[in-house]
Amino acid sequence: MDEIGLMIDLHLAGERQGPGSAAATRRAIELAGLDAAKPLAIADLGCGTGASALQLAEELDAHVTAVDFSSDFIAALETAAGQAGLSESIDARVASIDDLPFAEAAFDAIWSEGAIYNIGFEQGVRDWRRYLKPGGVLAVSEITWLTAERPAELEVFWREAYPEIATASQKFEVLERHGYSPIGYFVLPTECWIEHYYEPLAARYDAFLARHGHAEAARALVDADRREADLYRRYSSFYSYGFYIARRSD
Ligand code: SAH
Repeated sequence: MDEIGLMIDLHLAGERQGPGSAAATRRAIELAGLDAAKPLAIADLGCGTGASALQLAEELDAHVTAVDFSSDFIAALETAAGQAGLSESIDARVASIDDLPFAEAAFDAIWSEGAIYNIGFEQGVRDWRRYLKPGGVLAVSEITWLTAERPAELEVFWREAYPEIATASQKFEVLERHGYSPIGYFVLPTECWIEHYYEPLAARYDAFLARHGHAEAARALVDADRREADLYRRYSSFYSYGFYIARRSD
């Protein structure tokens, strides 16, 4: 199994595939000011197995078009939507978030939790804008520096892992430059990383390694995740996901 296949296998049983929580999604929904009384069309980009897509469909009674490039994640979302009685509300599609099969101005909101970094924040906010209706809302979580300075070890790790990591004020500037008015921001609290992501992930390591006969590539993936979790535990005051909510301005 290749590296992406292993990553999908490790994450498939997770409720989420990145840091987040239902409470954080709810907070972003409130800041977005979306009106559940209206028939809303929302896209969830890089949806994984669909924690936020299901919540948006449920809490806003929205029609959600959920996109991920993993057909296994999309299948898991379809199963969960069926179990939750939300099949009619969720259109789950295999597609790449840098080549979306949407019409212009199709959505009242574009949602993306822990996924925009895969194509880069600036490319995402620039390219996705056209799919929002004028006045539509973008809600994305993005790795963010919480302070102006940070330890060298951390700086080196993130410059390598994601060179676009920056402070919130720099991210706001990117949003404004690409035709958005920021309307809300908050930082994902520690439990979004530990209780909702790293702990459930760690609980799956043993079975994952056994499933893959402790192959070198599987061990390397677990080791990398452990290092990342350890780094977060030591340096959580310096970085997190910021949740950015911004309106398309015209
Ligand atoms: N939003 C989900 C998943 C976050 S993990 C959650 O918060 O739980 C990032 C997701 O982006 C993964 O599901 C991964 O399969 C997906 N992804 C990465 N690159 C992608 C691309 N180019 N196109 C579509 N999906 C992508």
